[in-house]
Amino acid sequence: MSETNLKDMQDLVSLCKRRGFIFQSSEIYGGLASCWDYGPLGIELKQNIKNSWWKAMTLRDDVVGVDASIFMHPTVWMASGHVEGFNDPMVDCKQCKSRFRADKIDLAKACPVCGSSGTFTEPRDFNLMFKTQMGPVEDSSAQVYLRPETAQGIFVNFLNVQQTMRKKLPFGISQIGKAFRNEITPGNFIFRTREFEQMEMQYFIKPGTQKDAMEMWKEIRWNWHVSNGIRPEHLRWHEHLGNDLAHYADAAFDIEYKYAMGWGEMEGIHSRTDFDLKRHEEFSKKNLKYLDAEDGNKKYLPYVLETSVGCDRCLLAVLSDAYRVENEGQGEAERVVMKFHPRLAPVKVAVLPLVKKEPVEVPARKLFEELQKKYPAEYDVSGSIGKRYRRQDEIGTPFCITFDFDSLEDNAVTIRDRDTMAQERVSLDRVQEYLDNKLKM
Ligand code: ATP
Repeated sequence: MSETNLKDMQDLVSLCKRRGFIFQSSEIYGGLASCWDYGPLGIELKQNIKNSWWKAMTLRDDVVGVDASIFMHPTVWMASGHVEGFNDPMVDCKQCKSRFRADKIDLAKACPVCGSSGTFTEPRDFNLMFKTQMGPVEDSSAQVYLRPETAQGIFVNFLNVQQTMRKKLPFGISQIGKAFRNEITPGNFIFRTREFEQMEMQYFIKPGTQKDAMEMWKEIRWNWHVSNGIRPEHLRWHEHLGNDLAHYADAAFDIEYKYAMGWGEMEGIHSRTDFDLKRHEEFSKKNLKYLDAEDGNKKYLPYVLETSVGCDRCLLAVLSDAYRVENEGQGEAERVVMKFHPRLAPVKVAVLPLVKKEPVEVPARKLFEELQKKYPAEYDVSGSIGKRYRRQDEIGTPFCITFDFDSLEDNAVTIRDRDTMAQERVSLDRVQEYLDNKLKM
């Protein structure tokens, strides 16, 4: 048997639509560019990724969570540097009106869309933050922004959290939430969108310890992706050096994933120094210093080590890595199978009565209802068994249980393993235990 990985993003886009993972937003109106809706299986998968992240990042003595508001005081974005600095210089093609990031194309060459030469405008700055109005009056004093990152909600709550939770350095604050950027060139399915979700953690540390903190979190974050089933050969580090390094950072590493269109950033791990807290002190005129009782009651601004991963980009990596085609074009039975880690699989087990006949259906339904109390499960009785397996393979269900006429005699069922397709006869009273063992999460 041969197995191939995902080669073309379009194959994944079609599977996601066909099987209820991800739909184009507002599809019946022709769609809205680069906006996507998670369907029933997509949201389960996303929730499982978030749960896995939340467990790894908050079930620790040294990290707690928050959920900050999307709207923030407008001065936050002046302090963070987003109002002035969150600009990507961009150019328009005067011929076809396509817009590009000036740093991503060769301006001396022809327009990559329409092929015209010498038609680019001068690079212009473009603020990536979405603006809107708060309250009943539409004037500039009521202008607010949709947050372009979740991090600032953590920085402004640093002292609230530290004091109420009586945390000592080093400690972290985690958050999962939506972020919005009016990206110039969104695309590649859910890789770059204008509305996306981030899973971020800011780890507050004593100045001078940032190298150790970086090593620690690099290891933890890499291992987390691998523990979710991403194959390590599809991951690599990219270190930011020189001009590539943001002005506020003294070190930065990205974890890149090998997407179908090539390597791309999935997560950033940044040593942000005390830049953010310093700026918030300056703009809010509030003292944000930490009182270090263990070091002679010294007062100082902590340094910050940040881990920031896009939930949607991570989900795209999980989908891409899980996608396999077996026996492609070899004349043997071909199947597409999503080999999700069982922890992430949106459906863990499917109960498939072999025939649509009452004596088989009644006990099969009973088994399904029993299993559903513990695991996200599906019950499917329509179509041939082959078709039903095919569907479960494409949604990545680790186990399918078939209930047949023999089951009525021997009180046993057949359990099929998604990856090996091996089938095992298991007595009904052992099914739960069997799944508990195999799905240990
Ligand atoms: P890029 O260089 O790809 O624009 P970035 O360096 O601006 O990304 P960060 O600001 O470090 O990204 O954001 C942290 C994470 O948030 C990224 O690693 C990515 O996973 C995710 N992310 C950022 N922008 C987007 C977007 N437009 N769509 C989806 N995810 C995004």
